[in-house]
Amino acid sequence: MILLSPAWTSLLYLAASVCFILALRGLSSPRSARRGNLIGALGAVIAVVTVFLSVRLANIPWILAAIAVGSLVAAPVARRVKMTQMPQLVALFNGVGGGAAALVAFLELDHAPDPWLRLAIVFTLLVGAVSFAGSAVTFAKLQELITTRPILFPGLPVLMAAVLVAAVAAAAVVMATGSTALAVALLVLGLAAGTLLVLPVGGADVPIVISLLNAFTGLAVAASGVVLGNVLLVVAGTLVGASGTILTRAMAAAMGRSVAGILFGAFRGGSTAGSTVVSERPVRSSSPEDVAVLLGYAQHVIIVPGYGLAVAQGQHTAAELAQALEARGITVEFAIHPVAGRMPGHMNVLLAEANVPYESLKEMGEINGEFKTADVALVVGANDVVNPAAKSSPGSPIYGMPILEVAAARQVVFLKRSMRPGFAGIENELLYEPQTSLLFGDAKESLAKVLGAVKAL
Ligand code: NDP
Repeated sequence: MILLSPAWTSLLYLAASVCFILALRGLSSPRSARRGNLIGALGAVIAVVTVFLSVRLANIPWILAAIAVGSLVAAPVARRVKMTQMPQLVALFNGVGGGAAALVAFLELDHAPDPWLRLAIVFTLLVGAVSFAGSAVTFAKLQELITTRPILFPGLPVLMAAVLVAAVAAAAVVMATGSTALAVALLVLGLAAGTLLVLPVGGADVPIVISLLNAFTGLAVAASGVVLGNVLLVVAGTLVGASGTILTRAMAAAMGRSVAGILFGAFRGGSTAGSTVVSERPVRSSSPEDVAVLLGYAQHVIIVPGYGLAVAQGQHTAAELAQALEARGITVEFAIHPVAGRMPGHMNVLLAEANVPYESLKEMGEINGEFKTADVALVVGANDVVNPAAKSSPGSPIYGMPILEVAAARQVVFLKRSMRPGFAGIENELLYEPQTSLLFGDAKESLAKVLGAVKAL
Protein backbone atom coordinates (compact mmCIF):
# COMPACT_ATOMS: atom_id res chain seq x y z
CA MET A 1 0.00 0.00 0.00
CA ILE A 2 1.33 3.48 -0.90
CA LEU A 3 0.88 5.91 1.97
CA LEU A 4 3.11 8.77 0.82
CA SER A 5 2.47 11.11 -2.09
CA PRO A 6 5.38 11.84 -4.47
CA ALA A 7 5.72 15.29 -2.89
CA TRP A 8 6.09 13.85 0.63
CA THR A 9 8.49 11.21 -0.68
CA SER A 10 10.69 13.90 -2.25
CA LEU A 11 10.60 15.93 0.94
CA LEU A 12 11.65 12.97 3.08
CA TYR A 13 14.42 12.07 0.61
CA LEU A 14 15.61 15.67 0.86
CA ALA A 15 15.62 15.39 4.67
CA ALA A 16 17.64 12.14 4.46
CA SER A 17 20.12 13.80 2.04
CA VAL A 18 20.57 16.71 4.43
CA CYS A 19 21.19 14.21 7.26
CA PHE A 20 23.92 12.50 5.19
CA ILE A 21 25.61 15.83 4.44
CA LEU A 22 25.44 16.91 8.12
CA ALA A 23 26.82 13.48 9.08
CA LEU A 24 29.87 14.02 6.88
CA ARG A 25 30.34 17.46 8.36
CA GLY A 26 30.13 16.01 11.89
CA LEU A 27 32.60 13.27 11.06
CA SER A 28 35.23 15.81 10.05
CA SER A 29 36.13 16.53 13.69
CA PRO A 30 36.59 14.17 16.67
CA ARG A 31 34.47 16.51 18.81
CA SER A 32 31.38 16.11 16.62
CA ALA A 33 32.02 12.65 15.11
CA ARG A 34 29.65 10.76 17.44
CA ARG A 35 26.81 13.20 16.68
CA GLY A 36 27.63 13.01 12.96
CA ASN A 37 27.36 9.24 13.05
CA LEU A 38 23.96 9.38 14.74
CA ILE A 39 22.66 11.93 12.22
CA GLY A 40 23.84 9.65 9.38
CA ALA A 41 22.03 6.69 10.97
CA LEU A 42 18.86 8.81 11.29
CA GLY A 43 19.13 9.67 7.57
CA ALA A 44 19.37 5.97 6.74
CA VAL A 45 16.29 5.16 8.86
CA ILE A 46 14.29 7.95 7.14
CA ALA A 47 15.40 6.61 3.75
CA VAL A 48 14.39 3.00 4.46
CA VAL A 49 11.03 3.90 6.03
CA THR A 50 10.24 6.25 3.12
CA VAL A 51 10.84 3.43 0.62
CA PHE A 52 8.41 1.18 2.51
CA LEU A 53 5.74 3.88 2.52
CA SER A 54 6.16 5.20 -1.01
CA VAL A 55 6.72 2.17 -3.25
CA ARG A 56 4.42 -0.77 -3.99
CA LEU A 57 6.81 -3.46 -2.74
CA ALA A 58 6.55 -7.15 -3.55
CA ASN A 59 8.04 -9.82 -1.26
CA ILE A 60 7.81 -7.72 1.90
CA PRO A 61 8.35 -10.73 4.24
CA TRP A 62 11.57 -11.56 2.36
CA ILE A 63 12.76 -7.95 2.59
CA LEU A 64 12.02 -7.83 6.34
CA ALA A 65 13.77 -11.16 6.83
CA ALA A 66 16.85 -9.85 4.98
CA ILE A 67 16.89 -6.71 7.14
CA ALA A 68 16.57 -8.83 10.28
CA VAL A 69 19.39 -11.19 9.27
CA GLY A 70 21.63 -8.25 8.28
CA SER A 71 20.98 -6.47 11.59
CA LEU A 72 21.47 -9.61 13.67
CA VAL A 73 24.83 -10.26 12.03
CA ALA A 74 26.11 -6.69 11.78
CA ALA A 75 25.15 -5.23 15.16
CA PRO A 76 27.14 -7.65 17.37
CA VAL A 77 30.09 -7.58 14.95
CA ALA A 78 30.18 -3.77 15.01
CA ARG A 79 29.86 -3.73 18.82
CA ARG A 80 32.58 -6.28 19.44
CA VAL A 81 35.13 -5.21 16.84
CA LYS A 82 38.42 -3.94 18.26
CA MET A 83 39.43 -0.46 17.19
CA THR A 84 42.57 -1.94 15.59
CA GLN A 85 40.38 -4.19 13.41
CA MET A 86 38.25 -1.33 12.10
CA PRO A 87 39.84 -1.15 8.61
CA GLN A 88 38.95 -4.78 7.83
CA LEU A 89 35.38 -4.25 9.09
CA VAL A 90 35.07 -1.19 6.86
CA ALA A 91 36.42 -3.30 3.97
CA LEU A 92 33.83 -5.99 4.64
CA PHE A 93 30.85 -3.62 4.92
CA ASN A 94 32.04 -1.72 1.89
CA GLY A 95 32.33 -4.89 -0.19
CA VAL A 96 28.80 -5.92 0.77
CA GLY A 97 27.54 -2.51 -0.44
CA GLY A 98 29.26 -2.90 -3.82
CA GLY A 99 27.99 -6.48 -4.17
CA ALA A 100 24.42 -5.43 -3.33
CA ALA A 101 24.49 -2.64 -5.94
CA ALA A 102 25.73 -5.13 -8.57
CA LEU A 103 22.96 -7.64 -7.72
CA VAL A 104 20.25 -4.96 -7.87
CA ALA A 105 21.53 -3.86 -11.28
CA PHE A 106 21.57 -7.47 -12.50
CA LEU A 107 17.94 -8.00 -11.47
CA GLU A 108 16.88 -4.79 -13.21
CA LEU A 109 18.38 -5.86 -16.56
CA ASP A 110 15.12 -7.57 -17.60
CA HIS A 111 13.18 -4.34 -17.05
CA ALA A 112 15.55 -2.04 -18.94
CA PRO A 113 14.57 -1.64 -22.58
CA ASP A 114 16.62 1.51 -23.09
CA PRO A 115 20.36 1.10 -23.98
CA TRP A 116 21.25 4.21 -21.92
CA LEU A 117 19.63 2.68 -18.86
CA ARG A 118 21.56 -0.49 -19.63
CA LEU A 119 24.75 1.63 -19.63
CA ALA A 120 24.04 2.49 -15.99
CA ILE A 121 23.39 -1.21 -15.36
CA VAL A 122 26.68 -2.44 -16.85
CA PHE A 123 28.57 0.29 -14.97
CA THR A 124 26.99 -0.81 -11.67
CA LEU A 125 27.61 -4.49 -12.43
CA LEU A 126 31.27 -3.98 -13.21
CA VAL A 127 32.21 -1.42 -10.55
CA GLY A 128 30.11 -3.16 -7.86
CA ALA A 129 31.76 -6.52 -8.61
CA VAL A 130 35.26 -4.95 -8.60
CA SER A 131 34.49 -3.34 -5.26
CA PHE A 132 33.08 -6.56 -3.78
CA ALA A 133 36.01 -8.77 -4.78
CA GLY A 134 38.66 -6.11 -4.06
CA SER A 135 37.20 -5.48 -0.60
CA ALA A 136 37.09 -9.23 0.15
CA VAL A 137 40.80 -9.52 -0.72
CA THR A 138 41.74 -6.46 1.38
CA PHE A 139 39.72 -7.96 4.28
CA ALA A 140 41.65 -11.22 3.93
CA LYS A 141 44.95 -9.31 3.87
CA LEU A 142 44.23 -7.14 6.91
CA GLN A 143 42.80 -10.09 8.85
CA GLU A 144 46.02 -11.91 7.88
CA LEU A 145 44.03 -14.77 6.35
CA ILE A 146 46.47 -14.32 3.46
CA THR A 147 49.82 -12.56 3.41
CA THR A 148 49.75 -8.76 3.78
CA ARG A 149 52.66 -8.53 1.36
CA PRO A 150 52.16 -7.88 -2.37
CA ILE A 151 51.18 -11.01 -4.29
CA LEU A 152 52.70 -10.94 -7.75
CA PHE A 153 53.05 -13.61 -10.42
CA PRO A 154 54.44 -13.59 -13.95
CA GLY A 155 51.94 -12.41 -16.51
CA LEU A 156 49.78 -10.54 -13.98
CA PRO A 157 49.72 -7.25 -15.96
CA VAL A 158 48.83 -9.13 -19.16
CA LEU A 159 46.08 -11.08 -17.39
CA MET A 160 44.70 -7.87 -15.90
CA ALA A 161 44.70 -6.16 -19.30
CA ALA A 162 42.95 -9.18 -20.88
CA VAL A 163 40.26 -9.20 -18.14
CA LEU A 164 39.62 -5.48 -18.61
CA VAL A 165 39.38 -5.75 -22.42
CA ALA A 166 36.98 -8.71 -22.08
CA ALA A 167 34.92 -6.76 -19.51
CA VAL A 168 34.60 -3.74 -21.80
CA ALA A 169 33.56 -6.01 -24.70
CA ALA A 170 30.99 -7.84 -22.54
CA ALA A 171 29.68 -4.50 -21.23
CA ALA A 172 29.22 -3.21 -24.80
CA VAL A 173 27.23 -6.32 -25.79
CA VAL A 174 25.05 -6.22 -22.65
CA MET A 175 24.35 -2.56 -23.32
CA ALA A 176 23.38 -3.24 -26.92
CA THR A 177 21.40 -6.48 -26.44
CA GLY A 178 20.54 -6.83 -22.73
CA SER A 179 21.97 -10.38 -22.77
CA THR A 180 21.64 -12.00 -19.31
CA ALA A 181 24.37 -14.58 -20.02
CA LEU A 182 26.88 -11.85 -20.84
CA ALA A 183 25.78 -9.89 -17.78
CA VAL A 184 26.78 -12.93 -15.68
CA ALA A 185 30.11 -13.00 -17.57
CA LEU A 186 30.54 -9.29 -16.81
CA LEU A 187 29.97 -9.96 -13.11
CA VAL A 188 32.59 -12.72 -13.13
CA LEU A 189 35.06 -10.49 -15.01
CA GLY A 190 34.42 -7.70 -12.47
CA LEU A 191 35.17 -10.12 -9.62
CA ALA A 192 38.39 -11.18 -11.36
CA ALA A 193 39.42 -7.56 -11.99
CA GLY A 194 38.81 -6.61 -8.34
CA THR A 195 40.91 -9.53 -7.13
CA LEU A 196 43.77 -8.87 -9.55
CA LEU A 197 43.72 -5.15 -8.73
CA VAL A 198 44.25 -5.65 -5.00
CA LEU A 199 46.49 -8.76 -4.86
CA PRO A 200 49.69 -6.85 -5.78
CA VAL A 201 49.04 -4.08 -3.25
CA GLY A 202 50.71 -4.71 0.06
CA GLY A 203 51.70 -3.37 3.44
CA ALA A 204 50.80 0.17 4.33
CA ASP A 205 49.04 0.79 0.99
CA VAL A 206 46.17 -1.62 1.75
CA PRO A 207 44.11 0.92 3.76
CA ILE A 208 44.39 3.46 0.96
CA VAL A 209 42.98 0.85 -1.41
CA ILE A 210 40.08 0.24 1.00
CA SER A 211 39.25 3.91 0.79
CA LEU A 212 39.49 3.80 -3.02
CA LEU A 213 37.17 0.77 -3.17
CA ASN A 214 34.82 2.66 -0.88
CA ALA A 215 34.70 5.41 -3.51
CA PHE A 216 34.01 2.73 -6.16
CA THR A 217 31.09 1.40 -4.11
CA GLY A 218 29.72 4.94 -3.90
CA LEU A 219 29.82 5.25 -7.68
CA ALA A 220 28.18 1.83 -8.10
CA VAL A 221 25.40 2.81 -5.68
CA ALA A 222 24.88 6.15 -7.46
CA ALA A 223 24.59 4.33 -10.79
CA SER A 224 22.13 1.86 -9.23
CA GLY A 225 20.09 4.93 -8.22
CA VAL A 226 19.91 5.85 -11.92
CA VAL A 227 18.85 2.28 -12.72
CA LEU A 228 16.07 2.29 -10.11
CA GLY A 229 15.11 5.92 -10.71
CA ASN A 230 15.81 6.68 -7.03
CA VAL A 231 17.21 10.16 -6.41
CA LEU A 232 18.29 9.40 -2.83
CA LEU A 233 20.52 6.53 -3.96
CA VAL A 234 22.13 8.88 -6.49
CA VAL A 235 22.75 11.49 -3.79
CA ALA A 236 24.03 9.03 -1.15
CA GLY A 237 26.21 7.17 -3.66
CA THR A 238 27.70 10.41 -4.95
CA LEU A 239 28.49 11.54 -1.39
CA VAL A 240 30.23 8.23 -0.66
CA GLY A 241 32.08 8.40 -3.98
CA ALA A 242 33.24 11.97 -3.41
CA SER A 243 34.21 11.55 0.24
CA GLY A 244 35.97 8.25 -0.53
CA THR A 245 37.95 9.97 -3.29
CA ILE A 246 38.92 12.86 -1.01
CA LEU A 247 39.97 10.46 1.78
CA THR A 248 41.97 8.33 -0.68
CA ARG A 249 43.86 11.39 -1.91
CA ALA A 250 44.45 12.67 1.64
CA MET A 251 45.76 9.30 2.83
CA ALA A 252 47.96 8.88 -0.24
CA ALA A 253 49.37 12.41 0.29
CA ALA A 254 50.05 11.66 3.99
CA MET A 255 52.00 8.58 2.91
CA GLY A 256 53.88 10.52 0.21
CA ARG A 257 52.36 8.42 -2.58
CA SER A 258 50.18 8.91 -5.63
CA VAL A 259 47.06 6.78 -6.03
CA ALA A 260 48.21 5.68 -9.50
CA GLY A 261 51.60 4.77 -8.01
CA ILE A 262 49.93 2.53 -5.42
CA LEU A 263 47.80 0.68 -7.98
CA PHE A 264 50.09 0.48 -10.95
CA GLY A 265 53.45 0.70 -9.14
CA ALA A 266 52.51 -2.61 -7.60
CA PHE A 267 52.08 -4.16 -11.04
CA ARG A 268 55.59 -3.05 -11.91
CA GLY A 269 57.08 -4.98 -9.03
CA GLY A 270 55.58 -4.76 -5.57
CA SER A 271 56.54 -1.25 -4.50
CA THR A 272 55.46 -1.90 -0.95
CA ALA A 273 57.42 -5.06 -0.26
CA GLY A 274 59.45 -4.74 2.92
CA SER A 275 61.94 -6.97 4.70
CA THR A 276 61.01 -8.53 8.02
CA VAL A 277 64.57 -9.57 8.85
CA VAL A 278 65.43 -8.42 12.38
CA SER A 279 69.11 -7.53 12.87
CA GLU A 280 71.13 -8.69 15.86
CA ARG A 281 72.93 -5.36 16.46
CA PRO A 282 73.14 -4.16 20.07
CA VAL A 283 70.70 -1.53 21.40
CA ARG A 284 70.59 0.45 24.66
CA SER A 285 67.85 -0.92 26.86
CA SER A 286 66.47 0.95 29.87
CA SER A 287 64.57 0.19 33.04
CA PRO A 288 61.30 1.94 33.95
CA GLU A 289 63.21 3.83 36.67
CA ASP A 290 65.78 5.12 34.11
CA VAL A 291 62.95 6.35 31.88
CA ALA A 292 61.18 7.95 34.85
CA VAL A 293 64.32 9.93 35.71
CA LEU A 294 64.69 11.08 32.10
CA LEU A 295 61.08 12.20 31.99
CA GLY A 296 60.75 13.53 35.54
CA TYR A 297 63.68 15.94 35.21
CA ALA A 298 62.84 17.14 31.69
CA GLN A 299 61.23 20.46 30.80
CA HIS A 300 59.58 19.44 27.57
CA VAL A 301 58.38 15.93 26.72
CA ILE A 302 56.71 14.87 23.47
CA ILE A 303 54.79 11.59 23.52
CA VAL A 304 54.49 9.86 20.12
CA PRO A 305 51.67 7.31 20.17
CA GLY A 306 51.38 4.56 17.56
CA TYR A 307 49.66 1.30 16.76
CA GLY A 308 51.24 -0.50 19.77
CA LEU A 309 49.54 1.91 22.20
CA ALA A 310 46.18 0.94 20.70
CA VAL A 311 47.00 -2.78 20.86
CA ALA A 312 48.05 -2.49 24.49
CA GLN A 313 45.05 -0.24 25.31
CA GLY A 314 47.51 1.95 27.19
CA GLN A 315 45.83 5.27 26.35
CA HIS A 316 44.51 5.86 29.90
CA THR A 317 47.92 5.15 31.44
CA ALA A 318 49.58 7.44 28.87
CA ALA A 319 47.13 10.21 29.81
CA GLU A 320 47.87 9.63 33.53
CA LEU A 321 51.61 9.78 32.87
CA ALA A 322 51.17 13.06 30.99
CA GLN A 323 49.18 14.47 33.94
CA ALA A 324 51.82 13.32 36.46
CA LEU A 325 54.54 15.02 34.42
CA GLU A 326 52.51 18.19 34.00
CA ALA A 327 51.99 18.25 37.76
CA ARG A 328 55.79 18.50 38.00
CA GLY A 329 55.69 21.59 35.75
CA ILE A 330 56.82 19.75 32.62
CA THR A 331 55.32 20.66 29.23
CA VAL A 332 53.83 17.52 27.67
CA GLU A 333 52.49 17.24 24.13
CA PHE A 334 51.24 14.35 22.00
CA ALA A 335 52.53 14.22 18.41
CA ILE A 336 49.93 12.85 16.01
CA HIS A 337 51.02 11.37 12.68
CA PRO A 338 48.16 11.15 10.14
CA VAL A 339 48.68 7.42 9.52
CA ALA A 340 49.75 6.32 13.01
CA GLY A 341 47.75 3.27 14.07
CA ARG A 342 45.57 1.44 11.60
CA MET A 343 42.95 3.93 10.49
CA PRO A 344 42.77 7.64 9.77
CA GLY A 345 42.30 9.55 13.02
CA HIS A 346 43.10 6.42 15.09
CA MET A 347 45.32 8.22 17.61
CA ASN A 348 42.88 11.14 17.99
CA VAL A 349 40.06 8.74 18.80
CA LEU A 350 42.24 6.69 21.16
CA LEU A 351 43.48 9.67 23.15
CA ALA A 352 40.06 11.35 23.17
CA GLU A 353 38.79 8.16 24.83
CA ALA A 354 41.30 8.81 27.63
CA ASN A 355 40.19 12.46 27.87
CA VAL A 356 43.51 13.89 26.72
CA PRO A 357 42.66 17.54 25.98
CA TYR A 358 42.54 18.37 22.25
CA GLU A 359 44.98 21.24 22.85
CA SER A 360 47.66 18.69 23.83
CA LEU A 361 47.32 16.84 20.50
CA LYS A 362 49.63 18.35 17.90
CA GLU A 363 49.44 17.45 14.22
CA MET A 364 52.67 16.56 12.42
CA GLY A 365 53.19 19.92 10.71
CA GLU A 366 52.69 21.76 13.98
CA ILE A 367 54.92 19.61 16.22
CA ASN A 368 57.83 18.72 13.93
CA GLY A 369 59.64 22.01 14.58
CA GLU A 370 59.37 21.42 18.34
CA PHE A 371 61.32 18.17 18.62
CA LYS A 372 64.62 20.06 18.58
CA THR A 373 63.68 21.80 21.83
CA ALA A 374 62.28 18.63 23.45
CA ASP A 375 64.29 16.87 26.14
CA VAL A 376 62.61 13.52 25.57
CA ALA A 377 60.57 12.02 22.73
CA LEU A 378 58.68 9.07 24.24
CA VAL A 379 57.67 6.79 21.37
CA VAL A 380 54.90 4.49 22.58
CA GLY A 381 54.22 1.60 20.20
CA ALA A 382 55.04 3.64 17.09
CA ASN A 383 57.62 2.66 14.53
CA ASP A 384 57.02 3.40 10.83
CA VAL A 385 55.79 6.93 11.53
CA VAL A 386 59.16 7.86 13.10
CA ASN A 387 61.40 5.76 10.85
CA PRO A 388 64.07 7.94 9.15
CA ALA A 389 64.22 5.38 6.30
CA ALA A 390 61.24 7.32 4.89
CA LYS A 391 63.70 10.13 4.14
CA SER A 392 66.99 8.34 3.61
CA SER A 393 66.30 5.01 1.84
CA PRO A 394 64.89 5.43 -1.66
CA GLY A 395 64.25 1.68 -1.95
CA SER A 396 62.27 1.50 1.28
CA PRO A 397 58.51 0.82 1.19
CA ILE A 398 57.84 3.97 3.24
CA TYR A 399 60.19 6.20 1.24
CA GLY A 400 58.61 9.61 0.70
CA MET A 401 56.21 9.39 3.67
CA PRO A 402 56.59 12.44 5.92
CA ILE A 403 57.62 11.35 9.45
CA LEU A 404 57.64 12.76 12.96
CA GLU A 405 61.17 14.08 13.45
CA VAL A 406 61.81 12.44 16.83
CA ALA A 407 65.55 12.08 16.08
CA ALA A 408 65.89 15.84 16.70
CA ALA A 409 64.98 15.41 20.40
CA ARG A 410 67.78 15.22 22.97
CA GLN A 411 66.74 11.73 24.09
CA VAL A 412 64.47 9.23 22.37
CA VAL A 413 62.81 6.41 24.34
CA PHE A 414 60.95 3.61 22.57
CA LEU A 415 58.39 1.51 24.42
CA LYS A 416 57.92 -1.74 22.46
CA ARG A 417 57.99 -5.45 23.13
CA SER A 418 60.78 -6.63 20.85
CA MET A 419 62.98 -5.62 17.93
CA ARG A 420 60.26 -6.58 15.46
CA PRO A 421 59.49 -3.96 12.82
CA GLY A 422 56.14 -2.19 12.34
CA PHE A 423 53.46 -2.55 9.66
CA ALA A 424 55.76 -1.81 6.70
CA GLY A 425 58.10 -4.60 7.81
CA ILE A 426 61.32 -2.60 7.77
CA GLU A 427 64.01 -1.96 10.33
CA ASN A 428 64.24 1.37 12.10
CA GLU A 429 67.81 2.71 12.25
CA LEU A 430 66.76 5.14 14.98
CA LEU A 431 66.64 2.22 17.43
CA TYR A 432 70.43 1.92 17.17
CA GLU A 433 71.28 5.64 17.54
CA PRO A 434 73.29 6.73 20.61
CA GLN A 435 70.52 9.04 21.95
CA THR A 436 67.96 6.22 21.79
CA SER A 437 67.04 3.81 24.57
CA LEU A 438 64.42 1.06 24.61
CA LEU A 439 62.13 -0.08 27.37
CA PHE A 440 60.96 -3.53 26.33
CA GLY A 441 57.50 -4.78 27.28
CA ASP A 442 53.80 -4.27 26.65
CA ALA A 443 53.15 -0.53 26.29
CA LYS A 444 50.45 -0.39 28.98
CA GLU A 445 52.56 -2.30 31.51
CA SER A 446 55.68 -0.25 30.73
CA LEU A 447 53.73 3.02 31.03
CA ALA A 448 52.29 1.91 34.37
CA LYS A 449 55.78 1.07 35.69
CA VAL A 450 57.18 4.39 34.47
CA LEU A 451 54.21 6.22 35.99
CA GLY A 452 54.82 4.52 39.35
CA ALA A 453 58.50 5.44 39.19
CA VAL A 454 57.74 9.08 38.27
CA LYS A 455 55.38 9.36 41.24
CA ALA A 456 58.13 7.96 43.48
CA LEU A 457 60.74 10.55 42.36
P1 NDP B 1 53.83 0.44 13.35
O1 NDP B 1 52.97 -0.67 12.86
O2 NDP B 1 54.89 0.95 12.46
O3 NDP B 1 54.58 -0.02 14.68
C1 NDP B 1 53.88 -0.48 15.78
C2 NDP B 1 54.87 -0.77 16.86
O4 NDP B 1 54.16 -1.10 18.02
C3 NDP B 1 55.79 -1.92 16.55
O5 NDP B 1 57.10 -1.45 16.67
C4 NDP B 1 55.48 -2.97 17.62
O6 NDP B 1 56.71 -3.50 18.06
C5 NDP B 1 54.82 -2.13 18.70
N1 NDP B 1 53.82 -2.83 19.45
C6 NDP B 1 52.84 -3.65 19.02
N2 NDP B 1 52.10 -4.10 20.03
C7 NDP B 1 52.63 -3.54 21.15
C8 NDP B 1 52.31 -3.62 22.53
N3 NDP B 1 51.30 -4.36 22.99
N4 NDP B 1 53.07 -2.91 23.40
C9 NDP B 1 54.11 -2.16 22.96
N5 NDP B 1 54.45 -2.06 21.67
C10 NDP B 1 53.71 -2.74 20.78
O7 NDP B 1 52.87 1.57 13.88
P2 NDP B 1 52.86 3.13 13.56
O8 NDP B 1 51.66 3.64 14.29
O9 NDP B 1 54.18 3.75 13.79
O10 NDP B 1 52.63 3.21 12.00
C11 NDP B 1 51.41 2.83 11.42
C12 NDP B 1 51.68 1.95 10.21
O11 NDP B 1 50.46 1.36 9.84
C13 NDP B 1 52.19 2.76 9.04
O12 NDP B 1 53.05 1.97 8.27
C14 NDP B 1 50.90 3.05 8.28
O13 NDP B 1 51.14 3.27 6.94
C15 NDP B 1 50.15 1.74 8.48
N6 NDP B 1 48.71 1.84 8.39
C16 NDP B 1 48.07 3.00 8.72
C17 NDP B 1 46.71 3.08 8.64
C18 NDP B 1 46.01 4.34 8.99
O14 NDP B 1 45.06 4.72 8.32
N7 NDP B 1 46.41 4.99 10.07
C19 NDP B 1 45.90 1.93 8.28
C20 NDP B 1 46.67 0.69 8.09
C21 NDP B 1 48.03 0.70 8.12
P3 NDP B 1 56.78 -4.87 18.90
O15 NDP B 1 56.10 -5.90 18.09
O16 NDP B 1 58.24 -5.10 19.06
O17 NDP B 1 56.11 -4.59 20.20
